[in-house]
Amino acid sequence: MSMIEVGFLLMCAVLAAVGWVVGTHFWTEWYYRLLSAIIVGCIPIALSTAIRLSEAIRLKRRPPYPVCENGCCRWEDYRIVKSDRVDVELVCKCGKRYVKSDQRFQRLLEDGGRQPYKVLKPGHQWVDDVLA
Ligand SMILES: [Zn+2]
Repeated sequence: MSMIEVGFLLMCAVLAAVGWVVGTHFWTEWYYRLLSAIIVGCIPIALSTAIRLSEAIRLKRRPPYPVCENGCCRWEDYRIVKSDRVDVELVCKCGKRYVKSDQRFQRLLEDGGRQPYKVLKPGHQWVDDVLA
């Protein structure tokens, strides 16, 4: 378990305790307090789920990488091999290698050369590179 996860669980526990204490002001029945503790303790989980969902929707509409040459790999199927300040070298599930450099997405050839593939247009659309 990472430090972030531990901190996250700790936050849930603290909030659950707060929920319990607040609950005691309103209800005498223990199950209402427990319910209050559970609801308040789940706030971080609900928030992080909402953030993750909105991020997934955003990436679906604005994919950081185009579909691969074989048409089978989408942006989440790429694995970053290496990256520097200018280029990101990626490999898709089929084993094809690409380099993303600014708005261009190029095939990486065996000899280290590059071949134009896709280019990012305004409106976040990946289209065929005119240089191809
Ligand atoms: Zn592929």
